[in-house]
Amino acid sequence: MSELQKNGARELLFGDLWEYAPAPESRGHINLAESYGHFINGEFIKEGDEFTSVSPSTEETLSTLHIADDAMVDRAVKAARDAYDNVWSKMPGRERAKYIYRIARMIQEKSRELAVIESMDGGKPIRESRDVDIPLAAAHFFYYAGWADKLEYTFPASSVSSIGVVGQIIPWNFPLLMMAWKLAPALATGNTIVIKPAETTPLTAMKLAEIIQEAGLPPGVVNIVNGYGKTGAAIVNHPDINKVAFTGSTEVGKIIQRSIAGTDKRLTLELGGKGANIIFEDAAIDQAVEGVINGIYFNQGHVCCAGSRLLVQESVHDEVVRKLNHRIQTLIVGDPLDKNTDIGAINSREQLSKIQELVQSGEQEGAVRFATQCKLPDKGYFFPPTFFTDVSPSHRIAQEEIFGPVLSVMTFRTPEEAAAKANNTPYGLSAGIWSDKGSKLFKMAQLMRAGVVWGNTYNKFDPGSPFGGYKESGFGREGGLHGLLPYLEVK
Ligand code: NDP
Repeated sequence: MSELQKNGARELLFGDLWEYAPAPESRGHINLAESYGHFINGEFIKEGDEFTSVSPSTEETLSTLHIADDAMVDRAVKAARDAYDNVWSKMPGRERAKYIYRIARMIQEKSRELAVIESMDGGKPIRESRDVDIPLAAAHFFYYAGWADKLEYTFPASSVSSIGVVGQIIPWNFPLLMMAWKLAPALATGNTIVIKPAETTPLTAMKLAEIIQEAGLPPGVVNIVNGYGKTGAAIVNHPDINKVAFTGSTEVGKIIQRSIAGTDKRLTLELGGKGANIIFEDAAIDQAVEGVINGIYFNQGHVCCAGSRLLVQESVHDEVVRKLNHRIQTLIVGDPLDKNTDIGAINSREQLSKIQELVQSGEQEGAVRFATQCKLPDKGYFFPPTFFTDVSPSHRIAQEEIFGPVLSVMTFRTPEEAAAKANNTPYGLSAGIWSDKGSKLFKMAQLMRAGVVWGNTYNKFDPGSPFGGYKESGFGREGGLHGLLPYLEVK
């Protein structure tokens, strides 16, 4: 008898009862160029070695881009410096706000096109890019547009000013949303920008460049260069960059930290995580299971704050595992552009190999694997929603960031043990607590060494709420009032 059958996985199997007719979102309305250049000083520059952006779900080439070398990065920084000195830092906040507001409105107007391109380029389900990524990206620009003319009243008994030219580097898991998280506060506070998208997901950044151009933002205020890690390093190490903001792996975060040590550059790092969802026996179990599913399988688990560890109170462990097992069998894995799809494609072949390797290590170290029985598409990079029971805290799958749809389940007996296990990680980005008792939620939240703690929910984001980590998850906050501070000098 398989593990699935032992756990009664045949009950409540909705996926078996009917087939969903395909509901693909049309690609007919999108406007994707065959090639894109760097966006520098308000113009697109097609220079440098070429690379392609490939759809992870179909493996088709979507567009060709160029790699920015040191000279191209220097050109971008010079444009940003010029725009900073002569235009943007001198412009009153209420005028800057109008541009930021205009960008937000244009993102809304083009939201359908942006959502489709985001799903094609990154592999995430269209429901998520349509309902989460793009609306939240617009919301960030709206939110920070509102701060631009209020900065002088924001920090009592002090005066504030912008920093200068900021260098920003972002990852591939939320391409347009990360652009918004980085650009909106930097623009509102009067800084100019050189930003690099991840090489596997540059296309919505290029569409945003078109929006910025159409919005009439003064040339040089936002410059977007493409390329690999070397281009990112050229931004970080450029002597005329005043501040670096990085989101990505802890490994690269440490390289950046070392490389700017001893300079006067400011730095914020938003790095990896190994978030714990903690289910107490008094929780509403069905609701908690739904939250855990969302916590780990949202965006194929490519989420820095994913709830990739599950701590369950011993008395409800079997019930939770049985329900989790039922629920993952109903998840639909497949074409990211189909509106029925719950789990899209893994972002790249490299990421798929990393997930496979870590899952193999879980099996070798003795954990018990559960996975959906669904058929994966023949083409593209896909991985079935998976979870492991019998995980010990020393297993690699309990310690390392898998960044895929893989959950590690462990147990606890007391709140103190739950807190100790949740904090037993080099990271400290997020946690979720599920309990019927408000006092328990607050007590546990105090014990968590994590920047974001959700109570009876997970993966909820709002531009007004600060986000960031403890320990190796980085430092500095993005979002909310706190998200202004890394871009301001406060006197
Ligand atoms: P990286 O940290 O390598 O990439 C993030 C960004 O940094 C990308 O734009 C990348 O460029 C750029 N970059 C790479 N090297 C340097 C450097 N030396 N200096 C400056 N910038 C650099 O993440 P990966 O894409 O390689 O993913 C590896 C692992 O990192 C994943 O498996 C996942 O575990 C984790 N990760 C975590 C994220 C998070 O938000 N916590 C986000 C992304 C990844 P390019 O894309 O061209 O390499």
